[in-house]
Amino acid sequence: MNQKTLAIIKPDAVQRNVIGEILCMAQERDLVPVAAKLIHLTRERAQGFYHVHRDKGFFDSLTEYMCEGPIFVMVLEGEEAIEGWREVMGATDPAQATQGTIRKRFGENIERNSAHGSDGPDTARFEIDFFSGDLELEG
Ligand code: UDP
Ligand code: MG
Repeated sequence: MNQKTLAIIKPDAVQRNVIGEILCMAQERDLVPVAAKLIHLTRERAQGFYHVHRDKGFFDSLTEYMCEGPIFVMVLEGEEAIEGWREVMGATDPAQATQGTIRKRFGENIERNSAHGSDGPDTARFEIDFFSGDLELEG
């Protein structure tokens, strides 16, 4: 099924100038960027984006990290894009991630793990809507 997912190249990876390599990995998986922008989140927006995690112990540190520098936000489209992008990213913890995945190649630790991807269709809808103003998406 053709799908869209919300993908983010996180601040650690943007700072290390590896956006291009990560885009190549999406391309190799036939995931097509249909919208994209570099955005510098405020703390409030980072908290809003990750509000499902507001009760977790890592919430404050995560939201501080997510606004320490620009992020590269993309809508990726393709066959089974949601699951496909999560496979390209690898496991949340880079130490557990498979060889050749983004998080294995670029992630520093379980927090600074270089990439985000929606985890299901409802999340993808919410997350694409969250950035629709920045990305100038219609409807
Ligand atoms: N995270 C963290 N510590 C943890 C688990 C997650 O700092 O123990 C961070 C990490 O950056 C992760 C994000 O919080 O990507 C969201 O966590 P989630 O469990 O949703 O992982 P993901 O869907 O990103 O793989
Ligand atoms: Mg998640």
